[in-house]
Amino acid sequence: MPTFVYMTRCDGCGYCVDICPSDIMHIDKTYRRAYNIEPNMCWECYSCVKACPQHAIDCRGYADFAPMGHSVRALREEEKGTISWKIKFRDGEEKDFVSPIRTTPWGSIPPPTDYAAPSADAMKSQELAHEPDALNVDALPAMPPERFKEGLL
Ligand code: SF4
Ligand code: SF4
Repeated sequence: MPTFVYMTRCDGCGYCVDICPSDIMHIDKTYRRAYNIEPNMCWECYSCVKACPQHAIDCRGYADFAPMGHSVRALREEEKGTISWKIKFRDGEEKDFVSPIRTTPWGSIPPPTDYAAPSADAMKSQELAHEPDALNVDALPAMPPERFKEGLL
């Protein structure tokens, strides 16, 4: 479900531009409002939808999500600690789905440049970059190398 912007709600703050991992949210140079330059390249991550302070970004739902003619809104309400999805069907029926926010506060995730460069030995580790710190655990459970051979003929 790619996103689109309601230009009358957008104030051109640029949060969606900064957060979009696909780099497809741009500010129109004439109107100073955001728009999705290539919906086909949208990851459908909804980071922009949740980050927009003006609630100016909506999603275009596919037919396998809800029958055509519906509209869908995702709303991140930090004060309530919730993400809610509102679907309005073409017959006017509305359904709301509310879940708790499980993301970390804006700006609280350190960028890769804040970490020390990995050592050559890190290439032999089973851990991904910045694990286990990024998972807030002291250590990850690791498989002893001899167990990798279990089950092989
Ligand atoms: Fe970019 Fe994700 Fe928004 Fe798509 S949903 S425009 S990929 S931030
Ligand atoms: Fe416009 Fe919202 Fe993007 Fe800000 S985050 S530029 S208000 S669409």
